[in-house]
Amino acid sequence: MDNKKLADLLFADNKLTVEEIEKKYPKRNLKEGAYVTRFAPSPTGYMHLGGFFQALIDFNIAKRSGGVFYLRIEDTDQKREISGASEIILNILTEYGFLPDEYELKGGVTVGEYGPYYQSERKEIYKAYAKKLVEEGKAFPCFCKKTEGLSDVKEIREKKFSSGINEDKDICRHLTIEQIEQNLKEGKKFAIRLKSNGNGVDKIKFVDCAKGEVEMTANAVDAILLKNDLMPTYHFAHAIDDTLMGTNVVVRGEEWLPSYPLHKEIFENLGFKQPKYIHSPLIYKLNEKGNKNKISKRKHPEADMRFFDKEGYDKDAVVEYLMNLINSNFENWRKQNPTADIMEFPFNGFKITANTPIFDFVKLNDVSKEKISRYTADECYSELLSWAREYSTENVEYLTKEKDYVTKILNIDREKPKPRKDIYKWSMFFELFDYMFSKPSNFEIDESEKKNYEEVLKNYKNYLKLDTKENWFENIKIMAEKLGYATNNADFKKEPEKYKGNTAKVCEYIRIAITGRKNSPDLFEIMSLLGEKEVLDRIEKIA
Ligand code: GLU
Repeated sequence: MDNKKLADLLFADNKLTVEEIEKKYPKRNLKEGAYVTRFAPSPTGYMHLGGFFQALIDFNIAKRSGGVFYLRIEDTDQKREISGASEIILNILTEYGFLPDEYELKGGVTVGEYGPYYQSERKEIYKAYAKKLVEEGKAFPCFCKKTEGLSDVKEIREKKFSSGINEDKDICRHLTIEQIEQNLKEGKKFAIRLKSNGNGVDKIKFVDCAKGEVEMTANAVDAILLKNDLMPTYHFAHAIDDTLMGTNVVVRGEEWLPSYPLHKEIFENLGFKQPKYIHSPLIYKLNEKGNKNKISKRKHPEADMRFFDKEGYDKDAVVEYLMNLINSNFENWRKQNPTADIMEFPFNGFKITANTPIFDFVKLNDVSKEKISRYTADECYSELLSWAREYSTENVEYLTKEKDYVTKILNIDREKPKPRKDIYKWSMFFELFDYMFSKPSNFEIDESEKKNYEEVLKNYKNYLKLDTKENWFENIKIMAEKLGYATNNADFKKEPEKYKGNTAKVCEYIRIAITGRKNSPDLFEIMSLLGEKEVLDRIEKIA
């Protein structure tokens, strides 16, 4: 077979040669040890939590080594094309503080010298390399109907090995140049497939930076490199793009691990050096029965990163929580360095968790509560307002008009050595503090305690004083004693039967009358903010 002739026949209209391309992609000028990573999502129109998890690893590896983190949109499957994919992804990365060094906005700016950053704009590049492989006898055209739009190697593998290992029944691999010419004349579309040297038996070993040494069977599949629309498969584009664009660490989902042997053969055939790989674990969630399920948008709204925004989660908390999932020693470090910047954490992208990360709201909420508890009231107010501007517009007017009151509410039990940890997302603010905006309608009072409850409130009208916290509490104690409650806890513990309860019980009754709840932040602060008139009003509604 005259491979040169075949290549010219198949790729007569190629606009670029490999030599021309490689001149445009010089080696990056970076210091020793600097890593170039990329986030390479398919344009699905939203940012998946698992993708964000990978981007976080990418960002940290690149930035901490003085390298480059870039965004590449893998839009070779044009049926699934979503416009504005880059904007959606970039917005989220930027909001979370992970702006890539290089990216492209379709029809807009391109930042970086290693573009285009949309794969659909790199078609000529893939075609040039496909031609080179055909010329070198390392790839061949395939006219089978089956290859139409096929990007997976599974069917081809089944076909090749259906009747015993390496029994090569593939017709297209053995077409003569005359047959190929005839097919082309008939206007038949072709895909380009790798001419694999594998025998289906040999083993290869490689070191995955997350999983350690992995042994696998070497590739033996004549995988598709260009589909019959001459768009590349993921495998081919990965080898070419990551090489030309200078990626030296590829962080990708572990679902790509089985494709590693194929990638090795493609890189070798192209004469390229493979990057390091981190196959990062997918994120799972436990269902009600305790079974693990992959996080998916269909079942879990939190699979879409916009969920956290809509709910008003603190962005730093989301990142911090994911850091916990990536590096198991993060939690300890955070305990020892509660206020340190996250970039001070000695992150090691090559030592990411070997465990399956399980997404857990309880844990996320705790991390978020901790973070938000450290904000000043003013910071909280501005976070709350900016969340409302986006997702709760009906509250913006009130929040703006009542800035002072809202900030005071946010300040209850805040800016103290042990601040209260209750808010974990801004969407819960109005519900959490509903009693600050209207009288409660439900009261957490047990039926059996109603008599004592009403008695306390009836009396309290005469003891209500909100000048200072000390006077306020002193008055409660005087009343408590008069009504038969213990004001000394030790006495109460010794002979509980002698009392109706203790001062804490009295406070609980007052708290229920004011807030509807048994638990709330500092009662005195709440009552002071509501004002004596409103407090009295609420008490009178009960007794
Ligand atoms: N577009 C691929 C995906 O979304 C990228 C995998 C990779 O990062 O190499 O799964």
